[in-house]
Amino acid sequence: MPDAPTSAARPRVLSGIQPTADSFHFGNYLGALRQWVALQEEHEPFFFIADLHAITVEQDPKLLRERCLRAAAQLLAMGIDPERSAIFIQSQVPAHAQLGWVLQCLTGFGEARRMTQFKDKSAKGGEGAASVGLFTYPVLQAADILLYRPQYVPVGEDQRQHLELTRDLAARFNHRFKKTFRLPEPYILKSTAKILDLQLPTAKMSKSASSPGGIIEMLDDPKVSAKKIRSAVTDSGSEVRFDEGEKPGISNLLTIYSALTGREIEDLEKEYDGRGYGDFKKDLAEVVVEFVTPFRDRTLELLDDKAQLDAVLRDGAARANAVAERTLADVYDRVGFVRI
Ligand code: ATP
Repeated sequence: MPDAPTSAARPRVLSGIQPTADSFHFGNYLGALRQWVALQEEHEPFFFIADLHAITVEQDPKLLRERCLRAAAQLLAMGIDPERSAIFIQSQVPAHAQLGWVLQCLTGFGEARRMTQFKDKSAKGGEGAASVGLFTYPVLQAADILLYRPQYVPVGEDQRQHLELTRDLAARFNHRFKKTFRLPEPYILKSTAKILDLQLPTAKMSKSASSPGGIIEMLDDPKVSAKKIRSAVTDSGSEVRFDEGEKPGISNLLTIYSALTGREIEDLEKEYDGRGYGDFKKDLAEVVVEFVTPFRDRTLELLDDKAQLDAVLRDGAARANAVAERTLADVYDRVGFVRI
């Protein structure tokens, strides 16, 4: 059964992010990564950079390597503390791919086919053009999770279906062989914000779909980010009020303002009552600059000290391997692989 101590004072959690851009954007940070930082307080986190998932679509090898390091540096600059959190690169922990294979052999073809994200993600080139890796990536995701036998997995709404698959596969393995996996519970993150495209505030801010003016990259030159805020689309009125239906643009900016400062939206509405959009956007631009400038400086500093970054990732991988290898040994044993 589950090794050691995940239900102790600090329950284990597991989360990953793909290294598929040079910089994270405000949606990634305010919608997900900011909560990673908060999770460290009361949990024992395993945070990984999902390079195995990244290659489900074609990647430039040099860029992929660079982006993994940039992702790690950004996570540290955001406040992930390598003492409290194991931060590592997925391919450095071979058990992910190894358990992934075993779980693929327990997954029905029809079951994999029902994963709606494959349909979305393969929509562009059509199913025929998509890799088998993209088809089975929810199974790899199940392996990512189950290896650490976590109690909770932080998930957004879009990942719920995958967590269900994870739980099904865990239960199937336990039933067919011997109880090995804990069935992880979804952990609904508090105060996650959905950040919308600044130029098209009906769509989410997204690295693949947003135009350059619609997305704020965390590593953009702060002056550029300020300009993007000042040029963000608002509606024809002038009242700074949160109303997602009538005023999606201004509501999105209020969400960003509130998330970056910790101030209540109502409070901001009061402050800008009668002052119009111009003033509001000018102040928000300053808030953004104040936030991204030290973040960017810290990230660049970390990227300059490759030895330190490598050391953090090596240590994270060692901690992850220690847990993952133990789970994999149990799995191999129960499946019937020879131990020599
Ligand atoms: P894509 O271009 O595929 O949409 P992305 O970088 O914009 O990529 P993902 O890689 O799908 O986004 O997401 C990484 C994490 O960031 C996920 O946890 C996701 O929920 C979160 N996220 C992404 N965009 C937003 C957004 N606009 N608002 C809130 N959370 C977001």
